[in-house]
Amino acid sequence: MTEEKYTLETVLSVKKWAANLFSFTMTRPAHFRFTAGQFARIGLQSDGELIVRAYSVVSSPFDETLEFFSIVVPDGAFTSKLQNLKAGDQLYLEKIPYGFLTLARYQQPTPHDLWLLATGTGLAPFLSMLQDFDTWQKYRYIVLAYSVRTSDELAYVERIREIQQIFAQESDAEFIFLPIITRDPFASLNQRLPKLIESGQLEKAADLKLHIETSHVMLCGNPQMVEDTKEALKSIGLVMNRRGVGNIAVENYW
Ligand code: NAP
Repeated sequence: MTEEKYTLETVLSVKKWAANLFSFTMTRPAHFRFTAGQFARIGLQSDGELIVRAYSVVSSPFDETLEFFSIVVPDGAFTSKLQNLKAGDQLYLEKIPYGFLTLARYQQPTPHDLWLLATGTGLAPFLSMLQDFDTWQKYRYIVLAYSVRTSDELAYVERIREIQQIFAQESDAEFIFLPIITRDPFASLNQRLPKLIESGQLEKAADLKLHIETSHVMLCGNPQMVEDTKEALKSIGLVMNRRGVGNIAVENYW
């Protein structure tokens, strides 16, 4: 059964970002095809049992390896084991990817400005999208707002800059990166996303309007953030994307 559903892959590298945050790369089997924004199901053996968790892919669909970004959940059966991961270890990977937080879901409005709003490890699917040339060719503006509690939790910042350099050069899209550090009174943006939307501060920082006729907005991360931000976006006139039509698409991250 396990062999039918999963392949065993090898961990290639592990990077620690903060006390409770790490990322890892592993081998990618040729059959594992995914669209940027989708997630994989990863498994490990614990006391003779296979435990499986969903992880959005960080790497692009064109990379030879797979990368994932994880938080250590206190007393979590999975991540307490996963945090001790090292190169050479093996993990199970379900053969098929999952999820609908992909740009292909948008038909109306047609692509113009893309807002990627993340908290914590919810950044992962957006990193994958940002490393896909299609994203840069579709949109005129791409805004990435990434909210963390403290500055040490702000992972992947250098990578985001590299992505901007590589991809923005080859396209007409303008990229706007807005880090939000909610527990730092000196950070230039330090309010939670719903507040920043309601006050107009997010639009001001991006120098761009959220608008029902132009904006695609994706939310990923803390389930309460997703809920509250959805409501804030609705209050300024945006609507949920259903059957391809509408602005807002969401993914709860745990
Ligand atoms: P977090 O509490 O989700 O905080 C990350 C950012 O989201 C912070 O800027 C935080 O602002 C903001 N935020 C929190 N609630 C919000 C809301 N309702 N609206 C808008 N923004 C909001 O921190 P985290 O480190 O990513 O995760 C915290 C806990 O979630 C961990 O202890 C972990 O156990 C659990 N978690 C579980 C999984 C899983 O797979 N099981 C995955 C990720 C996280 P504030 O500073 O104002 O709170």
